[in-house]
Amino acid sequence: MERYFWHLNAAQADGMACVVCGANFLTAKITSVPVGRSPADETQVFACKSPCVGRIVADSERMARELRAAAELDGADLTDGTDGAECENGVFCVDGHFGSLLRDLRTLAGTEALLATADDIPTIRFLLSLTARHAETAMMRARLVLARTTDEEG
Ligand SMILES: [Zn+2]
Repeated sequence: MERYFWHLNAAQADGMACVVCGANFLTAKITSVPVGRSPADETQVFACKSPCVGRIVADSERMARELRAAAELDGADLTDGTDGAECENGVFCVDGHFGSLLRDLRTLAGTEALLATADDIPTIRFLLSLTARHAETAMMRARLVLARTTDEEG
């Protein structure tokens, strides 16, 4: 993994201390795992296997979701009835509202997993706002798909 960690103290930059909590691996009996490199000299840096690696993972997932959510919000317009028109499978096309609905549900499932392990208020608040946003769009998309499938049947 080639992620860089910034603002490290000397022990962290040398791989002797956890880049998250600063625990010293020489004095504390902690299982450490490599998580990236120091930008100064490419030295491998480490974090406590538990719980610090989990926090790095949660952080990365949060950033990835943030980007994904931003991209989706730019690309999807619920009031625009034309998307999916070029899709052969109609309303259940993965590129259409059904696909967006599945992405919302996946995000919610991921958020549930992160909420179960999050232990600081800012992260929990961020996850809750993410939940609210995706739950809302999931509801609108589910209703939209329901409405369209009803139209097709009738
Ligand atoms: Zn740690």
